[in-house]
Amino acid sequence: MSWEVVIGLEVHTQINSKTKAFCGCSTEFGAEPNSQTCPVCLGMPGQLPVLNNEAVQKTILTGLAIDATINLESKFDRKNYFYPDLPKGYQISQFTVPLVEHGHLDIPVEGGGEKRIGITRIHMEEDAGKSMHEGLDSVSHIDLNRSGVPLMEIVSEPDMRSADEAVAYLKQLHQLIRFLDVSGADMEKGQFRCDANVSVRRFGAPLGTRAELKNLNSFRFIKQAIDYEVVRQIEIIEDGGQVVQETRLYDSVKGESRSMRSKEEAHDYRYFPEPDLPALRVTAEEVAAIKAGMPELPSQLRQRFEREYGLSSYDADVLSQTLELARYLEDLIAAHPANPKIAANWLANELLGRLKESGHEIVNSPVSASALGLLLDRIADNTISGKIAKDVLDEMMRCGQSADTIIEAKGLKQVSDTGAIDAMIQTVLDANPDSVAEFKSGKDRLFGFFVGQVMKASRGQANPALVNERLKLLLNS
Ligand code: ADP
Ligand code: MG
Ligand code: ZN
Repeated sequence: MSWEVVIGLEVHTQINSKTKAFCGCSTEFGAEPNSQTCPVCLGMPGQLPVLNNEAVQKTILTGLAIDATINLESKFDRKNYFYPDLPKGYQISQFTVPLVEHGHLDIPVEGGGEKRIGITRIHMEEDAGKSMHEGLDSVSHIDLNRSGVPLMEIVSEPDMRSADEAVAYLKQLHQLIRFLDVSGADMEKGQFRCDANVSVRRFGAPLGTRAELKNLNSFRFIKQAIDYEVVRQIEIIEDGGQVVQETRLYDSVKGESRSMRSKEEAHDYRYFPEPDLPALRVTAEEVAAIKAGMPELPSQLRQRFEREYGLSSYDADVLSQTLELARYLEDLIAAHPANPKIAANWLANELLGRLKESGHEIVNSPVSASALGLLLDRIADNTISGKIAKDVLDEMMRCGQSADTIIEAKGLKQVSDTGAIDAMIQTVLDANPDSVAEFKSGKDRLFGFFVGQVMKASRGQANPALVNERLKLLLNS
């Protein structure tokens, strides 16, 4: 393809804090509309904002995690526009000097290796309220519970070159934010929203004109919207036209986007310094203290899983995707410390598939880490084989009972009694005299056939090592 795709992303993420950015109102999601408001977040005349220090600290922590510069003095500005869900008529944001600048995030690229994506800035701002139209006839209602909720806006450089890279960046950022515990980042609740800026150009040419795709809130839609936009722009240019700078809305049902406003209609926000808030000053000591409290990051966790538990880099990657999954693995290994690699395999290859099938998340898994650990103990102590253990796990998923209860109730205990196994072997040998004769005349391959027959006769419950040992003896006698 002779076109190069250029993408820069703006992510709005809600900062975890019990209270709003500039007042003491609760940020709890899902409350009765307008029950979490006060004169400050209702935009009453004469109200005065007081900055939420927790939100400042979490923004600094995020900045440190992306190796950014923390500006020890930053500013708040007023971004002026009218909208019914913005009663003040302006949003407090950081325009001229943001708290965080010049960071980066490394993303995995297809075929191995990493690519560095620049992060221009992270600034603090407040969210607006919500207009509600659904189920209402020719009127709209306004819920201002979200008004004043603290946000970070994370702006990337135009460094991504495909929809896949954009999605990889967003997933990496989403994971980082969850590990830092600076935001719930629940996309369904609008706590992590993305605007994608997309342009195309001939290779080596200067940047093309971009369109901005607003408020994309799932990884799947982001990819679809960017792919659609790239095709649209290339068609326009190849038909001799020009892309216009505009804001577009992607309709995930129709699979297409439409123009929301063009540059000409674009807002002139008339930014000016917020007179009610002093400059935001933090000291180098405060920043150092926040850095000292930095939790383990996804890449560090991945490396620790490889180092401490001997996991493959693939397994380490899969099992460090979310904190919840990583915690489950650590609990599982605590319950069954004998073989961390086997524990990781059972989690990645057996439990996760079953959870997906039954529509569970790891946090509400019907099989707890200690219950799965007990099942692994029963394989290790030869009570059951690995094969039977998979059936037991199926049953544990269904009924929530312990491995021991199921093994006992269903009589699944592995047969390790030599006498019983010898008897089964003898039955198989008696039933297959021709095969026995062929084996004795040198057809060694038939050994596997006999093992299979004995295992089948025992309904999978014979101890396979013992079956091998006794078969050798009895066949050669
Ligand atoms: P605004 O705030 O008006 O959206 P910015 O200059 O802050 O504008 O840019 C917003 C985003 O657009 C950034 O993530 C930036 O990387 C991206 N961007 C800028 N120019 C282009 C371009 N030509 N193609 C794609 N993305 C771009
Ligand atoms: Mg923008
Ligand atoms: Zn309030």
